[in-house]
Amino acid sequence: MKKVAISACLLGCSCRYDARDNFNERLLELLKDTELIPFCPEDACFGTPRPTMDLLKTKEGVVALSNETEKNISIPLIRYAEDFFYNNPDIELFIGKDRSPSCAVESARVYDEQKNLLHEEGTGIMAKVALEFGIECWDAEVYVASHTS
Ligand code: SF4
Repeated sequence: MKKVAISACLLGCSCRYDARDNFNERLLELLKDTELIPFCPEDACFGTPRPTMDLLKTKEGVVALSNETEKNISIPLIRYAEDFFYNNPDIELFIGKDRSPSCAVESARVYDEQKNLLHEEGTGIMAKVALEFGIECWDAEVYVASHTS
């Protein structure tokens, strides 16, 4: 059975920053014949509920900045993602929550260092690692729209 890594909040897990979920019934219908392997890097690294974070474009590349401490909090997220994909080497598909600074594939907001919005097509920290592992990656809403006739 095809193994699919999926943002846990899309399955109904209350792991968002505000302890809510992003349950997506239509997405789960489309994936009913796959094995779903949930992940939530932010809950694993920072707990729930937690302060929000944003993606910033810096000289060192795009980083995750805590909106509470203004510190770069990318490293634990990257480590979580690398461990996840090393421990699940047979994942064929990654479905990330749209617009998330961790999980979005090509829909996250990216700001400059003065917090001006640069664009809304950024890749979240965990999705970037999934792409580096060569996994096929989709934003959830795009996946649903593309597989619904
Ligand atoms: S979008 Fe990603 S980091 Fe945010 S709650 Fe969902 S799984 Fe966790």
